[in-house]
Amino acid sequence: MSKKIAVIGGGVVGSTATFYLSKHPQYEVTLFDEATGQATSASAGIISPWLSKRRNQEWYQMVKLGAAFYPGFLQQVFSNGEIPKEVYQQVGTLLFTKKDKNLEELLKIGLKRREEAPEIGELKILSPEEVRERIPIYSKDKRALFASGGARVDGKALIEALLTAAEKQGAQIIREKATFTKTKSNKPYIETASLKEEYESVILANSAWLPEILGPLGYKVDIRPQKGQLAQLQTNWSTDDWPVIMPTGEKDIIPFLDGKILVGATHEDDMAFDLTLQSSSLEEMVLNAQEQFSECIRTSDIISGRVGTRAYTSDFAPFFGEVPGFDNVFAASGLGSTGLTAGPLLGKILSDLILGESPVLDPRKYPIEKYVK
Ligand SMILES: Cc1cc2nc3c(=O)[nH]c(=O)nc-3n(C[C@H](O)[C@H](O)[C@H](O)COP(=O)(O)OP(=O)(O)OC[C@H]3O[C@@H](n4cnc5c(N)ncnc54)[C@H](O)[C@@H]3O)c2cc1C
Repeated sequence: MSKKIAVIGGGVVGSTATFYLSKHPQYEVTLFDEATGQATSASAGIISPWLSKRRNQEWYQMVKLGAAFYPGFLQQVFSNGEIPKEVYQQVGTLLFTKKDKNLEELLKIGLKRREEAPEIGELKILSPEEVRERIPIYSKDKRALFASGGARVDGKALIEALLTAAEKQGAQIIREKATFTKTKSNKPYIETASLKEEYESVILANSAWLPEILGPLGYKVDIRPQKGQLAQLQTNWSTDDWPVIMPTGEKDIIPFLDGKILVGATHEDDMAFDLTLQSSSLEEMVLNAQEQFSECIRTSDIISGRVGTRAYTSDFAPFFGEVPGFDNVFAASGLGSTGLTAGPLLGKILSDLILGESPVLDPRKYPIEKYVK
């Protein structure tokens, strides 16, 4: 008899776990996803964690391995071997610093980190003219550090591809909100508008909503929501091969195919699960991009926006592992603003934990019991 596994949350983490688990015919895998406020489909899509100033070593290990995991992972998702450029492309990243002289220092850090992360690729300081050779609209006079291994990914397109592949492998996708409890015999039990079912194992990949699902069972979960908005622009520039632009501060410029550009994002801590798009916020971010990168970037090119909810722990560290007090119930959360980078690796790790295989990251270094009590 096949074992029933449920995954709650169909962002990048839950969709990846579903994709890997459904490869095993002995498991009957069901994914529940409500999708409201999902961070993955709202995200900017930057995969370039290596030059961050964050000092948390465990976080760095996770995002470093997460970035390195992408190309092989996508080869598995697109089994014909061709990774569509709309989904993922290694276009490189351009990083600016407040003070020009800090670039040499950043290059040194990058070269050191590259010894353990060759996927950073070529690292080179570009003159303003060299930046313009890659991105003709650049109108400022600052130099930038180029890292050829940086990439951009379209989170929404990625999960669509993952779920299509998972369904072909036999997974069932239920687009409904799920509640979760346990039976008298301590088995995970899930209820939605259309289903009531007992499962052998469950993955809680519902990110910012983990407190909502575990709260009624008496758990205290150290996760808070953070609102993020992004502006979408349509231009007539040939943006296909432009690198991702990371000016100083938190507002980036992410060129996609056919003149599409994303600018953002906001990091709003006091908005709970609010999903309102504020045109003033979108315009502010575009004006910032104009000031930092090019006068050609205009608010009149904004065609829409995106908004989603990130999940943070109080010390900004991500966690994963078996939920205390349950057997065979696993969860991950707290991926913050780098969850698209770490997400596929973490989804694979959660599937490894269900399968009883040793994951590439040690759960003891990302202790769930510190955040789920
Ligand atoms: C604006 C923005 C820009 C970002 N840019 C980047 C970036 O450039 N690079 C990067 O690495 N990361 C980025 N991130 C972060 C990244 O998007 C997230 O960390 C990551 O997508 C989290 O994935 P997840 O699968 O854990 O959660 P999510 O993608 O949020 O998915 C969780 C899902 O669970 C569902 N759910 C919740 N409760 C239930 C329930 N009870 N029943 C059924 N379904 C439920 C939700 O509806 C949602 O669909 C960005 C985030 C935002 C918001």
